[in-house]
This record gives sequence, C-alpha cells and structure tokens, in this order.
Amino acid sequence: MLKRPTIFFRLRAALARHPNAIVLGSIAFSVIVFGFALAVLVQAHQDTTARAIENADNLARVIEHDITYTAQLTDLSIRAAVDGAQDADVMRLPDRLRRELLFDRSTTASQYIGSLLCLDSQGKIIVDSTSAIPRRVDLADREWFVVHRDNPNLGLFISRPLHSRLVPGEVDLMFSRRVNHPDGSFAGVVVAAFRLDYFQNLLSGVRLGPGGVITLLQDDGHMILRYPNDGTAVDENFAGRKNFERFKETHETSFIATSGEDGEERLYNFRTLDKLKMIVIIAPATRYVFADWTSRAWYIGVVTALLIVGLLFAAQLLSVEFRHRLEVEEHLRNMTRIDGLTGLSNRRSLDDRLMLEWNRSKRSGKPLALLFVDIDRFKGYNDTYGHQAGDDALTAVAQAIARNSQRPGDIAARFGGEEFVVVLPETDRASAAVVAAAIHAAVHGLAIEHNGSEHGVITVSIGVACTDTEEVADPLALIKVADQAVYRAKASGRNQTSMAGPFGGAAVTT
Ligand code: GH3
Ligand code: MG
Ligand code: MG
Repeated sequence: MLKRPTIFFRLRAALARHPNAIVLGSIAFSVIVFGFALAVLVQAHQDTTARAIENADNLARVIEHDITYTAQLTDLSIRAAVDGAQDADVMRLPDRLRRELLFDRSTTASQYIGSLLCLDSQGKIIVDSTSAIPRRVDLADREWFVVHRDNPNLGLFISRPLHSRLVPGEVDLMFSRRVNHPDGSFAGVVVAAFRLDYFQNLLSGVRLGPGGVITLLQDDGHMILRYPNDGTAVDENFAGRKNFERFKETHETSFIATSGEDGEERLYNFRTLDKLKMIVIIAPATRYVFADWTSRAWYIGVVTALLIVGLLFAAQLLSVEFRHRLEVEEHLRNMTRIDGLTGLSNRRSLDDRLMLEWNRSKRSGKPLALLFVDIDRFKGYNDTYGHQAGDDALTAVAQAIARNSQRPGDIAARFGGEEFVVVLPETDRASAAVVAAAIHAAVHGLAIEHNGSEHGVITVSIGVACTDTEEVADPLALIKVADQAVYRAKASGRNQTSMAGPFGGAAVTT
C-alpha cells in the first residue's frame, strides 16, 4: 500500500517544481535575520543613549544642588555682613569687634571663601575678614563694585572668574551685595571672594571616561570651569561656539555633536542652574558611552554576516545538489520508460501512453489507429547472421518506424522481441494505411540483406486496427485486433499490411 506523502515529500515535490525557491527562500530568510539584528542594535543604541543621558542628568542635578547650596551659604554670610554694615551702631564699634560681628566666622565656615570684604562708597576696604588692618587695594574699578554703585536694586551679583588682586595666583568668583545708607544712597559693597578650587574639588573623583568633559558656564557663555582642567583660560567665552549656540537656539538639552575645539564626538547634556544663571554641561565622549555597544555591534554584525554567508552558501550547495538529483531522477525515470536496445518507448511506457490516448480519443470522439509491426523471418536472420547482427537490424528497423511516426502524440514502442506497436492519435484507417505503407518503404529501403527471406531483404508485416471501424472495449483489445491482422499479413506472404475490420484484407506494399 502506498503511504500518503508526508509534508517533507510535499515540500520536496514543490521544490522540484521551483528549485530556485531554495535560494530565494534563504535570501528572504537572510533579509529577516539581518533586519532583526539591525533592529536589536538600533534598540540597544537607543537604550545606551537614554541611560547615558539619565546618568548625566543625575550628575548635573547633584552638581546643581551642591553649587546652589554653597552659593546660598555664601550669600547668607554676605547678607549678614550687609545688615551689619548698614547698622550705624555696629559700624561705630571698635575695629576688632566690628570685624567679628560682621563676618561671624563665615570665612572659616566655608573653606572656599578666600576673603570677605566690606568696601566703602569709594571702593576702599574698610573691613577685611583676613586681615585686622584692611589691605590697601583699590577695587573701585571692578565690575562687581561698579554695578552695585550704579544699580540700587541689583541684589546678589556674581562676577566672572577673576584673578585675585589680593591673593596672587588665586582665581575667584566674586559674590557681592550693595550696602546702602539709611536714605538708600550708595554706601559701599560687601563682597566674598569664592575660590574656583571649590568646583575642581566638587568634581574630583567624577569619572566620565576618556574624552569626557564637564563644563560650568555662566549663562552668557563665560566659562567658570572645565573638568578635567586642561589649563583653559579663565576668560574663555563659549558664546558663538556651535554646540553652545545650538543649545541656546534649539533648547535641546541632549545631543551628540563633535567638539569644535578638539574634534572629539561627545554626548552633550545641558542643565541650566536658574538661580545662579549658570549652565553645567556634562559631555562624555561617545567612544566611551558606546564602547560596549560598539563591541557588541561588531560581535553581532560578524556573527550575523557569517550566518547569512553560511546560509546562502548552504542554500546554493543544496540547490545545485537538488538540481543534480532531479536530473538524475529524470534520467532514471526515462530509463524505466525507454527500451534499452532500440531507444523507442518500452512496453510499460506504451501501456501508460496508449491508455492516455485511448481516453482522449473517447472524449474527443476522434479515431485512434494502431499498427502492429512484426519483422519477417527474424529467427532465420539471427540464425544466419548472428545475434549481434540481429540486434543491429532490429535497431535499424526501430529507427525507420520512429522516423515515420513523428506527429505530436504519435507513439512508437517496442512491444517485445521483434515486434513493435505504433499508436496514431486522431488518425483514421486510411491515414494509418498510409503510415504503414511509409514504414514498409522505409524498412525495405534499409536494404538489409536477408537470404532466408523470400524478399531477399529485411521486411515487416503490419496489422492495422482503428477505432473508427473496430468495436473494441479497451486498448488491449485494439492491440489484439491489430496483432490478429499481422497474422493475416504473414499468411498472405509477408511484407504487407493487413487491415482489421469489416473492410479488412491484405494490402500488399512495396
Ligand atoms: P515471422 O516472419 O513469422 O514473424 O517469423 P519470425 O522468425 O520473425 O518469428 P518468430 O516469432 O519465430 O521469431 C522471432 C525471433 O526474433 C526470435 C528471436 O531470435 C528474435 N528476437 C527476438 N528478440 C530479439 C532481440 O532482442 N535480438 C535479436 N537479435 N533477436 C531477437
Ligand atoms: Mg513475432
Ligand atoms: Mg517475426
């Protein structure tokens, strides 16, 4: 019993019809694998960016909190000193007491306040936190002094980073507030020199990886600090630099860009410290941020590429092997349907194809003719000329028959031994007789000597049966009728055709 074809065999049959599907399928699969790998990498890149931005934002918040808190403490000390300086009683106290009262140990409370000074309206130091005798330095030209003198309601003013005139080599941010007379007129300024070391110390220990930079700016672009410190000048101004301008114009707080200064690509994160009018920029280098991602991308990329190349190579091999196999199968199939000696269809093929033509004839109502061809006195030929010569003659006759039955649908088959059958679809008796006559002529024309024959050469006897006159039930019966006609042709002297049926009889040819 035949097993039902499994899915595997169905698939195989489908592939046999479209062998290219193996390669096309593997290409489609490769595209899917590539797309998947790409999607994974893009997602991982986005995740890495988001995490880096989050880290930078957290760091910026901590920095903001610390700076704001320290600035508030400094301002508190200044306010206390301003309150004292505006109090006539306090100002009348002896110098030492006045100094202690005004500055309230605030300079020692914060190690970063270099000195706290109280200046009169001429810019002269009248109380100095670091010296019992106020230092004699003219500060009237300093911006932080001038702005308070000219603006009564400025409040806290934070200067640009300045090289100290009091402590050589020290760079300070000056926090200042105005001191008023009771009538509101300008009485002077209280100023705290805030050392920039504070910011360096604040950030020391922060690890941004190679190429990473933290920058603290005033909101107009003046740089307060760059970490790690590369010796950038205090009076550096970022205004006009492309990344700073981009932040100012677009208000994008995070973006990847190349530095105009050192060419390093960085992930810039901006945070505005509103109260202090400062901006902190956390900018790790992308080569550091995406280091893990890059190595993973290489790894996934190489593995995916190898996978795809391997897959395509295997598909190509499979496709070639499959085609080869199909060719071999086709060859084997043909071999089982072809007679090895003569090259005509064999008996099995004849049975199948005759049945097909029989059915087609039944459907169409068109006649089907059949010739039964038998070589005359062939036993004698073998006996005289030998079996090998017999085979050669047999092959030559087969080819003569084949040459004369070449319309589409015609079947020339070896029935067995020295007997052949020719099936002629859509052919009536008369036309079949014409084909038979042509075969007689062709075989006779081979002129193969046969001394044992009354005709001197190899000849054939042919029986013709046709469905337009024969009432036969099946193809086998048609063969039988034709075979019987051959007997009559033999009996009538061979080398002739005998027509089966009511108008039958021998028709001598050649
Ligand atoms: P008839 O004219 O009555 O047909 O006489 P015949 O000798 O042809 O008929 P018979 O049936 O007595 O002999 C057929 C011979 O065909 C027998 C055999 O030697 C020969 N024959 C059959 N098949 C082959 C073959 O493959 N090769 C060769 N060389 N001879 C074959
Ligand atoms: Mg025979
Ligand atoms: Mg014979």
